[in-house]
Amino acid sequence: MTAAPDPRSAGTIDAATPEFPSGTILGYPRIGPRRELKKAIEAFWAGRTTADDVERTAAELRSRTRARLVELGLDPSNASIPSSFSFYDQVLDAAAVVGAIPSRFAHLAPEAGQVDGGTRPLDLAAYSTIARGAGDDLPLEMTKWFDTNYHYLVPEIGPDTAFRFADDRPVREFAEGLAEGVVTRPVIVGPVTFLLLAKAADGAPADFAPIDRLGDLLPVYAELLRALADAGATWVQLDEPALVSDSVDVTSERAIDALVQAYTVLATDLARPDRPAILVAAPYGDLAAALPALAGTDVEAIALDVVRGGVPSDPVAGLETTTLVAGVVDGHNIWRADLASALDRLETLAGLGAAAVAVGTSTSLLHVPHDVDDEPDLDPTLRGWLAFADQKVGEVVTLAQGLTKGRDAVADQLEASRSALASRAKAPGVVRPEVRERADGLGRRDFRRGPYAERKEAQAARLQLPLLPTTTIGSFPQTPDIRRARAAHARGELSTERYEEEMRAEIRRVVELQERIGLDVLVHGEPERNDMVQYFAENLDGFAATQNGWVQSYGSRCVRPPILWGDVVRPAPITVAWSSYTASLTAKPVKGMLTGPVTILAWSFVRNDQPLADTANQVALALRDEIADLEGAGIGVVQVDEPALRELLPLRAADHAAYLAWSVAAFRLATSGVRDETQVHTHLCYSEFGEVIGAIDGLDADVTSIEAARSKMEILADIAAAGYPRGIGPGVYDIHSPRVPSEAEVTELLTAAVGAVAPEQLWVNPDCGLKTRRYEEVTPSLEHVVAAARAVRATL
Ligand code: GLN
Ligand code: ZN
Repeated sequence: MTAAPDPRSAGTIDAATPEFPSGTILGYPRIGPRRELKKAIEAFWAGRTTADDVERTAAELRSRTRARLVELGLDPSNASIPSSFSFYDQVLDAAAVVGAIPSRFAHLAPEAGQVDGGTRPLDLAAYSTIARGAGDDLPLEMTKWFDTNYHYLVPEIGPDTAFRFADDRPVREFAEGLAEGVVTRPVIVGPVTFLLLAKAADGAPADFAPIDRLGDLLPVYAELLRALADAGATWVQLDEPALVSDSVDVTSERAIDALVQAYTVLATDLARPDRPAILVAAPYGDLAAALPALAGTDVEAIALDVVRGGVPSDPVAGLETTTLVAGVVDGHNIWRADLASALDRLETLAGLGAAAVAVGTSTSLLHVPHDVDDEPDLDPTLRGWLAFADQKVGEVVTLAQGLTKGRDAVADQLEASRSALASRAKAPGVVRPEVRERADGLGRRDFRRGPYAERKEAQAARLQLPLLPTTTIGSFPQTPDIRRARAAHARGELSTERYEEEMRAEIRRVVELQERIGLDVLVHGEPERNDMVQYFAENLDGFAATQNGWVQSYGSRCVRPPILWGDVVRPAPITVAWSSYTASLTAKPVKGMLTGPVTILAWSFVRNDQPLADTANQVALALRDEIADLEGAGIGVVQVDEPALRELLPLRAADHAAYLAWSVAAFRLATSGVRDETQVHTHLCYSEFGEVIGAIDGLDADVTSIEAARSKMEILADIAAAGYPRGIGPGVYDIHSPRVPSEAEVTELLTAAVGAVAPEQLWVNPDCGLKTRRYEEVTPSLEHVVAAARAVRATL
């Protein structure tokens, strides 16, 4: 894409500023089309390969990515190709760059000043240890990245954290591209977002906030920018999504002040050519009041998410010298863009008085799979409606041409986009009248159960559980044998009969193990599920599954979100046979296990042609029927997992209430058809529940399990303060790490828990499902959990 003489240009650009490319993407998937990076790094962790092997695979992947993006039409000469690789997580990378390594890992980092005249990065083993923990050293906490299903590692910043330019990986990766003739645009988490996403290190004073350290951090970013300029980088991208989000700890005025301070230091005090031109990217939402503030600084370009955020309606002062990168192509979903209306929006944006308008994606393409053409088994009609990362690059290139050369230059592409949309609107299955009628007929009583006090009594009489009952969140380790059987069955090499027998054998093993360990409420272990959402998607009408549609969830973990394209129908019971079989093996209560409507939506690529609330209720009705069938089969406990409830929480506080109203209603629609004596559990994966505690209450589940181990039960104070009346299971075993917690450690957590909430409310369970762990870790961990529960029970 060579930039043409300039219909997009309304203002002026400083002559010294390198021109921004007419089209770009904010980032690209890093795990590889065949999950090459995942496989490489996991082999390294397992001790089968060396760090050099992983580096080689990673370098190859980066090289292939650059070549692919050039092939798709991005210009190799002008910084339109982002350099956005990471071995694990971009926030951890930023922490490594600025040397912000928590003191418990300090022994892993080379000492400041130890290496003359340069930086010595953490090696891959040390980097991995900070991400995953080791021995008694807990890893960094992990939490959701904005409203996506990506998770980042939370930096720990204290008053004494010594920032220094400790890792020049962004510079080396830029040089690597340059050596191949590609001038990339390095992408780094910006300083304000880095600090706003960090948590205060242990021992920091109560009134300390990591953003207090901005002034100390900025010189390190300045040093990085200088090093990039020296290496020849023309543009750098600093991601500042924290500015589209309201934070609980820092007011938006404070955040905006920080933004202005940061970009005064980085863009004004540090002048070009001592640094590259700066693109500040604000994906995932609306910058709102932060936009004029940022426009007033000397940054050369600003990327807006105009899919999630709006288009400002009036000219913005300060933009006259700034390039606006308009994120009109959705980086967050997989539908083909409506190119004509994207061009309309680009033209509106050109009216805001910016020096230039360029085409971009709304977010990094990290959240979508690589390539629709890599999905030969997908229904060809559906395939025609989709755009994965590579197709989105094509859309960007087309829109950039349309913008610079006029619509006629891209008439064919506009027509193809229009006809794909039209095909989708009238395809069979997109609207099913029987589904619409049932949803229209719902009334208040379909969303309500009886009073909790009566339920509690009926459940206690039926289940006969001890104080501090122990249970798990559902899945047990997915062993190589299970995976092999599932894959063979999918390929048609293992008959359904044999496959189901293997799964039943696994269930027998899992039940025996739980009985031996002494857990109180048993599960079947979910061996038949590849993934908690995909499994239901495969068994409901209205969804399609992909073959290679992997996206990174955290670290090396990838998921393959299904595509929810039509009205949802449950053609037959899904889980009932597995749960009934499990119940036949034990006298203990067995918990049926379902995924909730909000999580099914959050972890799927969801249709964008109707409100999410309507789609959620369709899924909820299918689950309601499933729960009725479980209850009918004699299952007394049903868990409906909603780990993603908070994930879809809008980034702006003003939008929370509306979201929580429909999401909580969908959960209640799914779960309120049962009798008093049937105990409904839910599981939520977060520790940050302060802001949705009311919603947890609103779910009206009899028991809620939550993540708590990494944050040392901080959540309980909120729960106690809210007077939450029902059962609560704060996780006492962090399953995101291979560490085995000791009995003493669990006892300590539980002792804290009984001090914070009434023992009658308390359940004892791990933080999350066990499927990513190995039995060597899980068995002793669960033994310690049960032993600790017994010990604390004995003190009550
Ligand atoms: N029941 C699921 C499991 O145990 C819950 C997983 C989750 O919350 N992410 O795997
Ligand atoms: Zn979980």
